[in-house]
Amino acid sequence: MSKRLPCLAIFFIMVAAIVSAEQTQNLNNNKGEITLRVRVLVKEAPSFPITTTGDYWLYDEIKGEEILYGGNSFSFVTESVPGGIKIPFAGVFSGSVRLIPVGKAKVRIGNQLYRGELLITKQDNHLLLINFIDLEEYLYGVIRKEISPNWPVDAVKAQAVAARTYAFYQMIVNQAQPYDLDATTKSQVYGGYKSEAPGSINAVEKTKGEVLTFRGEPVLALFHSNCGGATEDVKNVFGNDDIPYLRSVPCQYGRKSKHYRWEQTIALDKISTALSNRGYQTGRLRELTAVKNRHSDRIGKINIIHSRGRLTLTGTEFRKALGYNLIKSTIFNVKVKNGQAYFSGRGWGHGVGLCQDGMRDMAERGFSYIQILQHYYQGTSLETLYEIYRRAGFVN
Ligand SMILES: [Zn+2]
Repeated sequence: MSKRLPCLAIFFIMVAAIVSAEQTQNLNNNKGEITLRVRVLVKEAPSFPITTTGDYWLYDEIKGEEILYGGNSFSFVTESVPGGIKIPFAGVFSGSVRLIPVGKAKVRIGNQLYRGELLITKQDNHLLLINFIDLEEYLYGVIRKEISPNWPVDAVKAQAVAARTYAFYQMIVNQAQPYDLDATTKSQVYGGYKSEAPGSINAVEKTKGEVLTFRGEPVLALFHSNCGGATEDVKNVFGNDDIPYLRSVPCQYGRKSKHYRWEQTIALDKISTALSNRGYQTGRLRELTAVKNRHSDRIGKINIIHSRGRLTLTGTEFRKALGYNLIKSTIFNVKVKNGQAYFSGRGWGHGVGLCQDGMRDMAERGFSYIQILQHYYQGTSLETLYEIYRRAGFVN
């Protein structure tokens, strides 16, 4: 995840750049709505078979001309070759190629189906397959990868707004890059058409175009599974500057969730191997001592005593080295006995921003999605994309 905040002064220039002239024209006639399209990297490989579920056009992006019209379900293998992108029966194209399905046809890549268009771009010696899709339709395929769409409606709506805000923020930060978001946990997980569910679509539609802002700017809407009792200041986890809406807040919710408590037993030898795989050289491990932060239950530092000396890591570095699913959070106690380390902890994830189990619990207790979002992202406002663009002077 990119954690950098865009500079306020250049923010509106950035906003301008992601609204095409065509979109701006539509905006004025569109009764307060705005349509943005997002670029999501879905595959990276030297060559890849592509199919569609119906007819499609292929366009040469550089020349702005049609390459071919593909008949129903025509499949081809696109390939990175010297000089560009090879499309069978059509030639080699030096820039980027765009596949536009006709009507309701979808793009098929491997086992996945995607709405929207596909941009095929060459980078180094491989191809980037980028789904170019309406922001709202993209969100249909995100929710179920993060939470259950069957959670209470206000929890799903809160997740929809957080995911939309996160995507919008990345669109601004990454506009000079070939794509805005990755389809994996590097950004937020996106599963395309097959990951959609009625509960997700309903929550996205009911919050259409809504994002969170802080002092007029879209926020970096980080989220995690379970905070274990309180969320964490962003600066303690990612080493950023202090971000006012990403400071620790108490969370008395989500305590009945299975992710609230965790235990793990790991052999000291295994810890040693994991550390050396990450470039931390140690002798035989003897003792692990976790030191809590002054103002929270989270581990600020862990001292690792070994036969050749001592290694000190931050809680976050230790979690990363051992694996995020093994050490589920930085709230833990550790005891060493008979060559084993016994961990017992609370929460799952980095602990910054929205706590998803807390969000579910709050919705079950009757809080609205706005109350939930403003609890975890303090001092923020809910605005529509249209309001943001209007304030920036791009629409009436
Ligand atoms: Zn929580």
